[in-house]
Amino acid sequence: MKTTNIKPKPTVFTIFGGTGDLAARKLIPALYNLYLDGYMPAKFTIVGLGRTDYDNQKFREILLDGINKFSRSGKADAAKWKVFSSCIQYLQSDAKKDKTYQDLEAIIKEKDQEWGEESNIIHYLSVAPQFFPIISKGVATINIENKEQRNRIVIEKPFGHDLDSAKELNKLLQSLFDETQIYRIDHYLGKETVQNMMAFRFANALFEPIWNRNYIEHVQISVTEDIGVEDRGGYYDGSGALKDMVQNHILQVLCLVAMEPPVSFNADEVRNRRVDVLRAIRKFGHEEVKHNTVRGQYASGWVAGEEVLGYREEKGVDPNSNTETFAALKFFIDNWRWQNVPFYVRTGKRMHQKASVISIQFKDVPHPIFPIEASESWQQNRLIISIQPEMSIRLQVQAKRPGLDMILNPVDMVFNYDGTYPAESPEAYETLLLDVMEGDQTLFMRADQIEAAWELLMPVVENWESRKSINFPNYAADSWGPEIAEALIAKDGFHWFTMPVKNKKDKK
Ligand code: NAD
Repeated sequence: MKTTNIKPKPTVFTIFGGTGDLAARKLIPALYNLYLDGYMPAKFTIVGLGRTDYDNQKFREILLDGINKFSRSGKADAAKWKVFSSCIQYLQSDAKKDKTYQDLEAIIKEKDQEWGEESNIIHYLSVAPQFFPIISKGVATINIENKEQRNRIVIEKPFGHDLDSAKELNKLLQSLFDETQIYRIDHYLGKETVQNMMAFRFANALFEPIWNRNYIEHVQISVTEDIGVEDRGGYYDGSGALKDMVQNHILQVLCLVAMEPPVSFNADEVRNRRVDVLRAIRKFGHEEVKHNTVRGQYASGWVAGEEVLGYREEKGVDPNSNTETFAALKFFIDNWRWQNVPFYVRTGKRMHQKASVISIQFKDVPHPIFPIEASESWQQNRLIISIQPEMSIRLQVQAKRPGLDMILNPVDMVFNYDGTYPAESPEAYETLLLDVMEGDQTLFMRADQIEAAWELLMPVVENWESRKSINFPNYAADSWGPEIAEALIAKDGFHWFTMPVKNKKDKK
């Protein structure tokens, strides 16, 4: 989150996994767009590392292809790409070999000399998690002056596969680097609408006085995908919806909704308040797992006229898999602000709609003065924050329908990003990569946050892993998940909020 106009220092940006999907799809397009918008440092070099035998030219061609396909700014401008790509080099390397780190050391020293000043060095670990330890140890051996001030390390998700492995990775990283050098990425926190949660809550006098149990009835966070596991079956089968989505993205969004106001916009002040929420969430005992959690797995079916595979038939997935592709949970936050306000979260694959939405439903008016005929389509006030694909914030209020009769119906006061801001919003990775270059950790996960999130979910993880589900698969493709997920919320008198789908063809 850029708050100053100071350009970052000269930067050596290394990408371990430079030939991978994330680099081509997100990281390089993000760096290129930062360059187009004038945010890259005046002097920088991007070093892509991978095992494939490419030269600089071939590597740049592959990255250009990625930009042309995935960049929000469309096809690359030839002249601008020429200058940008001259700052990219390829290092064929094996993360397990010492030579990789010796080669990097030589590049960094060469750049220091060429630029006549010490650069910041960012090591981005865009590789499978089993490589996090070996690469972290490797980059820590790079022998340069003032490395504590210069080195930053960025760790992709998943950060651990349970509490013990997350603790172990934290312990290792903290033995090699200071916490101020470690950037654990959760790209949801870089999304515009998610960042706007803080602006909405803490830059307006309107919301904060009613942002509590006295006025809010319940909160929902729903992150649904219409696609299946695609070619990630092998990875996903060892993970599942709870670890892939709830432990990180959804809990972080929940923290932003529920956090107390920080005393300032300082990174640690904000992160302290987020971790307070995780610590206040009611623990899951046996009864809570039984009554407040639901898991699901998608069956085969039809989506937009095309037949699709069930999860257990997907490539790389165990045909008897017990892995959940859907999870719904009810949380309570045991503090003064939120006592007894339920927070419902759900996430799933192959669902009817792709949407990430937060719905905050306010309590009903204390006394209805209108006759029943006037309020047939009554809807309690709701604040709907749509993160994707639509980026909007809507406040649903009751209004009188124009006409001679006194008929009330809900209307939306809409703040739509597309209509309000002519410029396209930056992608989450642009925000986050710039933050790393500027040394701002506000939107990154601290060690204690990661561990608190794992600690909270471990009873659910252990319960689900140890008890094979007898009714998987239990929801059809293109549905809203298993029926019991409806029951989870319906038994409290609510229903899941869904964004109106404008056109089914727009879904992809
Ligand atoms: P990928 O499989 O496409 O790429 C992996 C990269 O690791 C390749 O560049 C490969 O050359 C490199 N690699 C493998 N073994 C190596 C070795 N011994 N030495 C050096 N390099 C080696 O993976 P990806 O999809 O790019 O994902 C990378 C990381 O980002 C993973 O942790 C993943 O969970 C995370 N992630 C990816 C996405 C995404 O959209 N792809 C989204 C969120 C998080």
